[in-house]
Amino acid sequence: MRFFLLCSLVLFAAASFGQRNCGSMDYAGRNGITHLYNNNSLPAQSHRDTVTNEILTVPVVFHILYNNSSQNISTAQILSQLKVLNDDFRRMNQDASQTPAAFRPAAADCRIMFCLAQVDPRGRPSSGIIRRQTSRQSFTYDDAMKFTAAGGDDAWDSRKYLNVWICNMQGGSLGYATPPGSPADKDGVVIQFNAFGTIGNLQANFNKGRTTTHEVAHWMGLKHIWGDATCGDDGIYDTPQQEYYHNGCPSFPQMSACSPNNNGDMYMNFMDYTHDACMNLFTHGQKVKMRGVFAVNGPRNSFLFSFACDSTLATGAPLPQDTTTIINDSTTSIMVEKDWMVYPNPVLSSIYLQGINGYELKGQSVTIFSMTGTLLHRIQLNSSNPTVNLSFLKPGVYLIRVGEGKMIKQRKIIKT
Ligand code: ZN
Ligand code: CA
Repeated sequence: MRFFLLCSLVLFAAASFGQRNCGSMDYAGRNGITHLYNNNSLPAQSHRDTVTNEILTVPVVFHILYNNSSQNISTAQILSQLKVLNDDFRRMNQDASQTPAAFRPAAADCRIMFCLAQVDPRGRPSSGIIRRQTSRQSFTYDDAMKFTAAGGDDAWDSRKYLNVWICNMQGGSLGYATPPGSPADKDGVVIQFNAFGTIGNLQANFNKGRTTTHEVAHWMGLKHIWGDATCGDDGIYDTPQQEYYHNGCPSFPQMSACSPNNNGDMYMNFMDYTHDACMNLFTHGQKVKMRGVFAVNGPRNSFLFSFACDSTLATGAPLPQDTTTIINDSTTSIMVEKDWMVYPNPVLSSIYLQGINGYELKGQSVTIFSMTGTLLHRIQLNSSNPTVNLSFLKPGVYLIRVGEGKMIKQRKIIKT
């Protein structure tokens, strides 16, 4: 109890000074999680192993829980976080060049990527973003945000999806993660809404999306770099032992009581407590550890059998509110909102499609679904201003979708 009180005081003090405050170890302690993982969540048919350097792709569902409109963060903010995850886990982050030369040989491209879930657990098309208003003004480590009945939003199957809940955390906590092997209905990552992504109204030192990078790495089994003890062991061979965590934005080198050599602490590792702008690498050892959880007999091996990044596998009727535009603009590699329109609507025999904001229709596939989710028609567009003959459709309401993969948007059309 005394330890708990002390711990809370430390957390409170840390929060009031604008220091990083990750709750993952606190959460693990409260929930008696001492093991890193078990194998209970493995599917029976699991035999495939990871292949050296294959890109592992993790489908993500973002649960946005908001009590007021400022917490209902924009889709652009969500996409900016997705970009940071993909950059950091591929060492494509712009600030990779900031890694001190002494530590550059240890820096790794983890070859792990993330997509917005394109298919929900029932097989329906999805944007991978759920927005839910809650009467709760803030959340704590009690996991309420993970349960609809408690003012949160239920997890999607955590064997196939990385669940990320974005909400307002009490007391300045930036977030917490469950380690591999946690109960399925609580498995995932929680992030403070204003320490998420790089766009929007963000806390000054936590505005580059690194809180989520850090917590997702916990979700893949990484410990804090100081091993959560004075000169502790994080179990990673190429992260130097260091006495404690670093806050703020230190300069190289930072020697501490247990530094193995003159290079000192790896304070710029994503698993330290430095500011977002001052962390920039995972190491090869951390890469091996994280990829290991996806390997055969690993606790997240089921993700090798998750196909939720592939929208073409969606079969059921789409959710009516699920109309977010998600486009990866290949020319700028920046996520942008683009769109297309269909007219006339209602339609008598043919429809015309037109791109908006430079959205190119030529080469895209168009699919027509019944309202019960049956695929009725599929064509490939060979023009930027295409006409699609729908005279074969019976009068009624249908859904038209353009694009594949991440480039999906649908419209309801009425055939007369
Ligand atoms: Zn942490
Ligand atoms: Ca180490």
